[in-house]
Amino acid sequence: MAKKSPPLRTVPELIAHKRDGGALTDDEIQHLIRCFTTGEVADYQMSALAMAIFLRGMTPRETAALTLAMRDSGSVVKLRGPKGRHVDKHSTGGVGDKVSICLAPLVAACGLHVPMVSGRGLGHTGGTLDKLEAIPGFDVSIPVEDFVAQVTEHGCALIGQTADIAPADKKLYALRDVTATVESIPLITASILSKKLAAGIDALVLDVKVGRGAFMKTLEDAQELARSLVRVGKLAKKKVTAVLTPMDAPLGLTIGNALETREALEVLHGGGPEDLREVTFVLGAEMLRLGGVARTESAARKAMTAAIESGEALARMRRIVEAQGGDARTVDEPDRLPKAPAVVRVKAPATGFVRAIDPLELGLTGVAMGAGRTRADQDVDPAVGIVLRAKRGDRVQEGDVLAELHVRDAKGARRFAARVRGAFDIGPKPPRLPPLVLDVIRR
Ligand code: URA
Repeated sequence: MAKKSPPLRTVPELIAHKRDGGALTDDEIQHLIRCFTTGEVADYQMSALAMAIFLRGMTPRETAALTLAMRDSGSVVKLRGPKGRHVDKHSTGGVGDKVSICLAPLVAACGLHVPMVSGRGLGHTGGTLDKLEAIPGFDVSIPVEDFVAQVTEHGCALIGQTADIAPADKKLYALRDVTATVESIPLITASILSKKLAAGIDALVLDVKVGRGAFMKTLEDAQELARSLVRVGKLAKKKVTAVLTPMDAPLGLTIGNALETREALEVLHGGGPEDLREVTFVLGAEMLRLGGVARTESAARKAMTAAIESGEALARMRRIVEAQGGDARTVDEPDRLPKAPAVVRVKAPATGFVRAIDPLELGLTGVAMGAGRTRADQDVDPAVGIVLRAKRGDRVQEGDVLAELHVRDAKGARRFAARVRGAFDIGPKPPRLPPLVLDVIRR
């Protein structure tokens, strides 16, 4: 005779149990997420539970149960094509991080299938979807059937979370955003992995950003998040690697949607700033290894270099843009991207070395300029943003241009210029630059 399961506690009892430091069972977590998705658990109850989780944490088993329950709150995409080859990358979010836009076509050109489900700008951090939408006509909300067909045919599709991909995450994220419960390791783990697992991946490379411009400000916190993501990914029977990279300065030289897309396209053309190229290659090499396309990092790097030099990576990007309704001419003619009508220069107030460039302040200034949003329902301006003309370690003379602001109204840009100038720390000695990879966690 089947064993009778004990009666479930009521929702207020479950919240109280977590509030008091108890662990929830797999059944209890599944029940909560199921009822939250249908609306039987109210938003205020879920918010209270999120705060209890934020304060008390979760065991690895609870975090895994939460991730799987959120994955199963919608449908799990069934991708076609070679087994083990569906590999995605996800960044925990930074400033100037446009890696996905060059990385996805690059690794697809090397033989991977990349079913990429990305997000929009959040707080001071930018979002891949907003950047892609700077390409005229590019549609990030294609139906799931078209997503599957495109990944099969072109090896890559770049979309946003649909109503059917981990809807519990979408609902819970909206609550966390307004209840000060975003920065919780179990909640971030479940949020990121639930939607990635629902997209049908075999393997995942995570770029866990560390520093002032990231959610995780210290290496220790980032390592804890990385270990949680890798552990839960493994419990879900996926290959997962977390690469920890610094976010104590913007990545590359641009912040703002069209400006960042343009810079990512430069990488596919064989150019782009050194840090952006290197982070793209480090993450790409790990993806190619996990997907079984390359055995070693050096073989993976060779494959990516060849894909860029032969034009195959660019050709792949054209195919993706075209398949998603975008103007593929943009890939070779980036002047077709939206452009702001005015450019305002920010000049160095002193002579010396650029010791630091505050990514948080630049990210927030970008948001204030219209490149990001402060409420989920706001539109972003694809054309505006910031171009850095000096990087950390550069020697500058007083009056040299540190940055350019791409704005709608030059007169109103004075306050932005002051903020950008203030984000630069100029001093007499050159700084020690951190490595581009701080740690790699595979288990
Ligand atoms: N990105 C996500 O998708 N979820 C989080 O909770 C944080 C960053």
